[in-house]
Amino acid sequence: MALRVLSVTSEAVPLIKTGGLADVAGALPAAVAPHKIEMTTLLPGYPAVTAALPRKRVVHAWDSLLGEPARLIAGKLGDAPLLVLDAPGLFGRAGNPYVDPAGQDWSDNWRRFAALGRAAADIVGGLVPATGKRRGFDVLHAHDWQAGMAPAYLRWAMPAQALPVPSVMTIHNMAFQGWQSGEVFPRLGLPQAAWSVDGVEYHGGVGLLKAGLAAASAITTVSPTYAQEIRTAEFGMGLEGLIVSRGGDVSGILNGIDTQVWNPESDPLLARRYGAASLSRRMTNKHALEAEFGLDASGAQERGAPLFIVVSRLTGQKGMDVLLETVDHLVGSGARLAVLGSGEAWIEAGFRAAADRHPGRVAVRIGYDEDLSHRMQGGGDAILVPSRYEPCGLTQLYALAYGCVPVVARTGGLADTVIDANPAALAAGVATGVQHGAVTYDSLSGALSRAVALYQRPDEWLRLQRNGMACDFSWRASGKAYADLYRSLIA
Ligand code: ADP
Repeated sequence: MALRVLSVTSEAVPLIKTGGLADVAGALPAAVAPHKIEMTTLLPGYPAVTAALPRKRVVHAWDSLLGEPARLIAGKLGDAPLLVLDAPGLFGRAGNPYVDPAGQDWSDNWRRFAALGRAAADIVGGLVPATGKRRGFDVLHAHDWQAGMAPAYLRWAMPAQALPVPSVMTIHNMAFQGWQSGEVFPRLGLPQAAWSVDGVEYHGGVGLLKAGLAAASAITTVSPTYAQEIRTAEFGMGLEGLIVSRGGDVSGILNGIDTQVWNPESDPLLARRYGAASLSRRMTNKHALEAEFGLDASGAQERGAPLFIVVSRLTGQKGMDVLLETVDHLVGSGARLAVLGSGEAWIEAGFRAAADRHPGRVAVRIGYDEDLSHRMQGGGDAILVPSRYEPCGLTQLYALAYGCVPVVARTGGLADTVIDANPAALAAGVATGVQHGAVTYDSLSGALSRAVALYQRPDEWLRLQRNGMACDFSWRASGKAYADLYRSLIA
C-alpha cells in the first residue's frame, strides 16, 4: 500500500526558490514515488505560489491560524499533489519569502512559520478532512526551521481525537535556526510544558529548528559527513548537544540532482550538447562562455590553464572571501575565472575589483541567473567550491554531471561526493576532482595549483571528467533511503 507523506517546506521549484532547499523539496515527490510513497507538498501561499494555481480549489478554511484567517488550496507541484496555505495576512508579500525589501527578517516570521507548522499538524493529525477518496497522512516530513513547528505542534498540542503521526525533521543548513524572542511563546498556542529544554525553549527564546529537532521522530541531514559534523560545536552551532543526544535517530541522506534538467546530452540551454564520449564538443560552449564574459579567448597563452567558474552565494560560508585572496595567484598561474553570484556586499565589491584588476582574465556577473549557470557548467573547465561548511552542495553535483571538474573543500557533502585526485586515486583511476583541507589561502592556492597541473596532463584531466560524468547522483538511491526511513517510522 502506498504511504502518504506530507512534505512541509517554505520553498520548492518550480514555484519559489531562494536556494538548494527548493531544488530538494521540488524533486522529492518524484524521487520517492517509485518506492510507493505518495508525497503531497505544503507550501506557504506567497504571491508567486498562489498566482501559479490555475484554479483556486479551496479544501479547508481556518477562521484563525495564529490569529489570521487562512485557506488551504489544492493544486499540483509538477505531477505531485500540492497544498498551499493561503493566508494573505502572513504570506501575501512580494519578493523574498523571509526578508523585507531592506533585507531584514520579517518581524512576524515566528507567526508566519508557526502558522505553517500548525496547519501541517492539523492536516496530518486528521483535523482537516482528507479530500476525495484519499486516506489521511502516514508521515510528516518537515524541512528546515520554517517547518520546525510542525513536529512540535504534533508532539505538544494535538487534541485527543487527533491521529498520532510520526515526523522527520531535515536540516538543510544548521546555520539557519529561526531563533525568536521568548516573548512569542505564549502566542504559539503550546502548553507550558513545551517551554523546556526538550521542547521549544532555546537560549531563553523559541528555537523553531530546535523545536522540530526535539520533537521529530527522526532527524536527517543532507549528507553522511554533515550528519557527523553537526555533532561538533564548529558545525552544530549550538545544537550539537541535542544532535548527539538524539543518537541513532540522526542520519544523513545525500541530495540527488534532477537529471532531466541537468543533463549535458539534452540541455537546451547549451550552445552545444555533449556526452562523456564527445567531450571535445564542450569547446564550443567554452568559447561561448568566454565571449559572454568578455574573457580572453583560448589562445596559446591560455591553453595550458583551465577556465575556473564559480556559481554561488557570495558569502563567508562559501569561502568566497578566501577565494578573493587567491585570485591573483589563480591569474598568476595562467588560469581565468568567471564568477556568477550574489551575496555580501563587500564580497561582491571584491570580485568587481578583481575583474577590474585583471581584465580579460577575471569576469563577474552579480545576480541570480539559472540559465547562465547551465552555460557555465557546460563550458567551464573546473568549478570552485571552497565552502567552510557544506551540508550537501548541489553545484559540485551539477559540475560532475557536466564534466566540469570540481575543486572543493573537504567538508560535508563535498567530501562525500568528490574523490580527490591524490596519487592513490589517480593510480586506481577513480578520481573525480580536487579536494583541499582548511579554507585558507595556502590550502586553496595549493588546490588551484594542483588543478592547473592536472589540466596540463590532458589524458588525466579527461579521466577526471569521465569519472565524474559516470557518477550516479540522481535521486535513485536517495529516494529509496527516504522511503525506507518513512516506512521504518510506521513499522
Ligand atoms: P546553497 O543552497 O547553500 O546556496 P547549494 O549548492 O546546495 O548551495 O545550492 C545552490 C543552488 O542555487 C544550486 O542550484 C546553484 O546552481 C544555484 N545558484 C546559486 N547561486 C546562483 C546564481 N547566482 N545564479 C544561478 N544559480 C545559482
